[in-house]
Amino acid sequence: MKHKTYNSRSEKETQKIAKDFAGRLVPGDVVCLYGDLGFGKTTFTKGIAAGLGIQDRIISPTFTIIRKHGVLQHVDLYRIESREQLTALGFEEILEDQDAITVVEWPEQAYDLLPKKRWDIRLELTLIEKDREIIITQHE
Ligand code: ADP
Ligand code: MG
Repeated sequence: MKHKTYNSRSEKETQKIAKDFAGRLVPGDVVCLYGDLGFGKTTFTKGIAAGLGIQDRIISPTFTIIRKHGVLQHVDLYRIESREQLTALGFEEILEDQDAITVVEWPEQAYDLLPKKRWDIRLELTLIEKDREIIITQHE
């Protein structure tokens, strides 16, 4: 298990960290983004999209749950309330898509379905308002 910690001082810096991180991603990868509302999960996803050369506007798929942007599939499990909803969504199949890079906001909602091999990204607040601590863990 490899960890790397970054300190971001702005929304832009978070996007830059994510853009650089995207260079390490290959199709089939699953990226789980942890952190409370407003911590920067969607901001981080924007940076990943930029790093993958995707020009679409990225917004949280809070109501649609999933949005596809080329190779990137962006999932937001915030509103999921039951196992049945995850099954209906085909979440397990989504995770297994070897042609896509799958980014999941609120992965805690489906923790037992997450693949062992994945990237975990934790976003934390600090004592300074616009700072975020970003911890990237690679699970092989
Ligand atoms: P989430 O998807 O986790 O709910 P968003 O990425 O949608 O969060 O929102 C993050 C909010 O925090 C934005 O309003 C952004 O401008 C603000 N922000 C302030 N500082 C940072 C930072 N260092 N990194 C990311 N977002 C930041
Ligand atoms: Mg979000």
